[in-house]
Amino acid sequence: MRRLRYIQVLLPLRLKWEPFYSYSEEQLPDSISVGDRVRVEFAGKEYVSVVTVVDVEEEAGAVGYDRIKPVIGPAEGLDRISKEEIDLWRMVAEYYLCTPGEVYKAAYPAGKVEEEEVKARINDRLQERIAKLDEKIAKARREDTRARYLALRDELLRQGHCPGAVLSRSEARMDAATDRWPAAIELSDSQSEAYSKIKEVFNDRKPALLRGVTGSGKTEIYLKLAAETLSSGKNVLFMVPEIALSRQLEDRIRVHFPEELIVFHSAETLARRADAAAFIKNKPYLALGTRSSVFLPHKNLGLIIVDEENDSSFKQDNPSPRYNGRETAIMLAGLFGANIILGSATPSLDSLYNCEVGRFGLIDLKTRYFQAADSDVEIIDTIAERKKNGMVGSFSRKLIDRIKNCLQEGGQVAILRERRSYSPLLQCEECGTIPKCPRCDAALSLHLRENGPSKLVCHYCGRVSEYSGKCPKCGGALKPLGAGTQKIEEEAASLFPNARIERLDSDSAKSRKRESEVIRRFAEGETDILVGTRIVAKGFDFSGLSLVAVIQSDSLLGQQDYRADERALQLLEQFRGRCGRRAQKGLFVVQTSQPEHPVYESVRGASDPDQSARKFLSERKLFGYPPFSRVVNVVLKDRNLSRVELMSRYLSGELPGVLGQGCKVIGPYSPAVDRIGGENIRIIRILLPKDIHLKSNKAAISGLSERFEKEKKYIGHIALDVDPV
Ligand code: ADP
Ligand code: ZN
Repeated sequence: MRRLRYIQVLLPLRLKWEPFYSYSEEQLPDSISVGDRVRVEFAGKEYVSVVTVVDVEEEAGAVGYDRIKPVIGPAEGLDRISKEEIDLWRMVAEYYLCTPGEVYKAAYPAGKVEEEEVKARINDRLQERIAKLDEKIAKARREDTRARYLALRDELLRQGHCPGAVLSRSEARMDAATDRWPAAIELSDSQSEAYSKIKEVFNDRKPALLRGVTGSGKTEIYLKLAAETLSSGKNVLFMVPEIALSRQLEDRIRVHFPEELIVFHSAETLARRADAAAFIKNKPYLALGTRSSVFLPHKNLGLIIVDEENDSSFKQDNPSPRYNGRETAIMLAGLFGANIILGSATPSLDSLYNCEVGRFGLIDLKTRYFQAADSDVEIIDTIAERKKNGMVGSFSRKLIDRIKNCLQEGGQVAILRERRSYSPLLQCEECGTIPKCPRCDAALSLHLRENGPSKLVCHYCGRVSEYSGKCPKCGGALKPLGAGTQKIEEEAASLFPNARIERLDSDSAKSRKRESEVIRRFAEGETDILVGTRIVAKGFDFSGLSLVAVIQSDSLLGQQDYRADERALQLLEQFRGRCGRRAQKGLFVVQTSQPEHPVYESVRGASDPDQSARKFLSERKLFGYPPFSRVVNVVLKDRNLSRVELMSRYLSGELPGVLGQGCKVIGPYSPAVDRIGGENIRIIRILLPKDIHLKSNKAAISGLSERFEKEKKYIGHIALDVDPV
C-alpha cells in the first residue's frame, strides 16, 4: 500500500488555521520540507500554498484521515520560502491582527509568472543592452570610456540570463550621475562623528535614529554604511516612502553600487517581482524599494536603511496586512541580526519616544554639508492682506514681490499647494448647491484638460464625469471655489509672464516618464517655477531652488486628528528643507489665514526640534495618546447606513467587556468623509496601554470582531487597523 504523509500549509487567505493535506511519495519528491510550495485545493479553488509543518500524522489522525484531501502537486518553478520569511509573516500577523496567509498573499501576489517567460524577457533586455553598448563602443573616442564599456559588456555576457541586473538602467543616466554625485565617499567631520555614534548604537544591537536636517548628508552616511556592509559580504535593504520620486537617489546609489543595485516597488509587475527575487537570490545586493520590499525573499541581510522614516506612505491602509514598513523592517532586522538605521529631518514621535526610553539610539546631525544657513521664514497672513487689498487671486502682493526678486536674481521657485485640480470645489451661483459625488460624501473637483472638455473628478473614489458648467439641481451656473494646482499654475503664468512654469502633481505625473522629465528640467534649470503638491518636495535635490512658497497652508492644518500638528510640522519642515540647498540662503514663505497657529511658531524656528518634539510628546502623554498607548481602529464599511450605525454602536458597547484595565473605547464616529464608493464608514478607536496585557487586549479585539461577524452574520466589512496613520 502506498504510504500517505501529512503536512500543514499556509494559504494566501484570511484564514486563522493551517489546513492539513496528504501526499504520497510518488506524488511529491521524497523530501518535502517546511517552506516548499505545493498546489492544493481549498473550498473549490486551487492555491499555491506554503508548507509550514511536515510529518503531522498524529495531528492529522485527530482531524480524521478521511477528511484530509491530497495535495494536487508540486508548484514547479517556484522558489521555496525561507524560514525568515515565514517567521516574519507570523510576526506581522500577530502584531497587525491579520493572518500569516494575508501577509503571504501580499509578499507573493498571485498570478502566473512562468519562469521561462521571465528568463526570455530578461535575455531580450540583455541583448538589447549589449547591442546598445556595441554602438557606444564603436563610437567611443576616449580610451578609458571604451574600456569601461567593454568591461560592462563582459559583465553582461557573464551574467548570461542571470536576472535582475538589467532592471531600469541606462548608461547615459549613469554617466550624468557620475558627474553629478561624488564618486568616493568622504565624510565631513560632523558626518564622521555621527557615523561613529551610529556604529556605537549598532554595537549595542539597537536601531539607530539619525535626525539630520535636509542637506546634512544623511544619504552620504547611508552609502558609507552600505558600502561597508556589502564589502563584508552582507546585503542591504534601503527603504524609501515612494520610489517614483527617488530617481535621483537611484542614480546616486548606482554610482557606488552599479552591480548590486536592484530597484523594487509595489507597482512592479509580477514578472518584475520575479526578476527581483531571482536577482537577490543569486547576487550580493542593495535593494532599493518601498514598503513592500520588506517582503522580498531576503537573505544574509546586514543592514536596513529606512529613509524619511516619519512618512505615512510606509503604512499600508488597505488591504490587509495593514502594516507599517518601518516597524516591519525592525522585525526583519531582528530576524537577521542586521543593523537598522532610520533617518529623517523630522522623525516621527514614535521613534523619538523609542529613543527616550532607550530602545533606539538617537544621533543628531545638525550642520548642512554645504554650510548653508537656515532659510529665512516668512509667514503671510492672508486675511490681513485681503483687508489691505494685498491679495491678487491666490497670491499676496508680498509673495509676488519675493518671487519677482528671486527670478530676477536667477533663482528658481517652487510653489506648493496641497490640492490638485483646477478648483477643489464648485458652487451654484443660483441655489448654492455644491455638486457632490453620488457615491461619496465629498465635493467634486474641477479638472481642466489640455485637449478635451473639462471633467468633474471625485478624489475619493476616482469617479470622473463630464463638466457641463450647470448646476445639477437648478441648472444655474457653477462657480469654481478655491484654487488647486492647475489654477495656481494659471495664475502664476499671468503674474510672471516671462517665467517658464511647469506643474507636478499626481495628475500631471500620470506617466513616470513625463514626471521625471519635469523633474529633470527643473533640476537642470530649464524651468523657473514649479507648481505642485507635496511630491515636489519629496527627496529631490534642486540646487537652484531658492524660494519655496506654500499657498493656503491652512489645508495642512485642517484635519481633526491628534496627529494633525505633528504631520503639518513635518511637511512644512520638509518643504522648508528644499530651499537654499547649496551654499546660498533660501527663503520659505507660507501663506495662511491662521498665522498664530502654534505649528508656525515651530517652523519659524522659535523653538528647536527637540523642544517641539518634547511639547508634542507631553501633550500626547496628557491625553494618553500614542506613543504612550497603542491605537487599534475598528473600521466598519457597509452599503447600508442604518445597519452600519447599529452594528458599530453594538460593537463598541461590547468592547469594554472584553478589554482589560486602562483601555479606552472611543466612538463609533464618522470620519471626515464618511461615505466612499457607496460604502458608509464608521470607526471605533481603541487606546490600549502599553503594558504586559497589550497582546491579550489586541487578541481580544480580533476575537470579538470575529465572533461578531459570525454571530451576527454581519455582511458589512470590518477591518482592524493597528497603529493607524
Ligand atoms: P540629506 O540626505 O541629509 O538630505 P545629502 O546626503 O543629500 O543630504 O547631502 C546634501 C548634498 O550635499 C548632496 O548634494 C551631497 O552630494 C552633498 N554631500 C553631503 N555629504 C557629502 C560628502 N561627505 N562629500 C561630498 N558631498 C556631500
Ligand atoms: Zn466618489
